[in-house]
Amino acid sequence: MTAISTPAETIQGVRVRGLRRAFGGRVVLDDVDLDIAPGEFVALLGASGSGKSTLLRAVGRLDRQAEGELRVPEQRAIVFQEHRLLPWSQVWRNVTLGLTGPDLRRQALHALTEVGLAARADAWPTTLSGGESQRVALARALVRTPELLLLDEPFGALDALTRLKAQALVARLWSRHRPAVLLVTHDVEEALLLADRALLLEDGKIAREIIVDIPRPRSLDHPRFATLRRRL
Ligand code: ADP
Ligand code: MG
Repeated sequence: MTAISTPAETIQGVRVRGLRRAFGGRVVLDDVDLDIAPGEFVALLGASGSGKSTLLRAVGRLDRQAEGELRVPEQRAIVFQEHRLLPWSQVWRNVTLGLTGPDLRRQALHALTEVGLAARADAWPTTLSGGESQRVALARALVRTPELLLLDEPFGALDALTRLKAQALVARLWSRHRPAVLLVTHDVEEALLLADRALLLEDGKIAREIIVDIPRPRSLDHPRFATLRRRL
């Protein structure tokens, strides 16, 4: 009778019920329910303006005016389409921005190694390419060991080849650390490449759910990824 049980509160996914958000009377999210299990990778698809970012911001508790019931892990990190690095701080300082403790540089180097950018630890953000900046943004998320990772079109501004590499990196990082992920994207193939489940947001509601049953690790050789292959 010595088994140690983990308190239920410490391992939890996302549970959203009746989420509603309107801007000036125009309803953008209309009674949305959403569950993400611990370690599950969920993609959120939808046309531009359908409310994907609004939903992601609400789940990240960045929108105090969203109404509804929300349970999300405390340990969470967000990566936006634009990297939002501070230009006056070196790369490694950006990675540990807002954190305190004795070995921040070591932690930053560890996270930067995971995204293949340890060599740029002392560089200034303005000297990085778009793809490198997004990898730094991923390192900044990783260093927080998130139980929930929120990604808002993180590869949207990258060229096709750089995007493929970034997608492969996210797949690798996810399988290594297994956070729950909510990835906002308008790219169906990206959703199929990365997610366990894809949700379609339409008219303020989750209109469809697609279970992605392509086995992992997902190879670009799979017939579903013909378009992605052509971009190579
Ligand atoms: P998506 O990310 O799917 O492109 P958004 O969530 O950014 O869509 O926006 C959904 C809708 O809500 C859009 O019509 C947008 O103009 C509107 N919207 C988003 N944020 C605001 C805001 N702060 N004020 C007014 N309208 C907003
Ligand atoms: Mg958006």
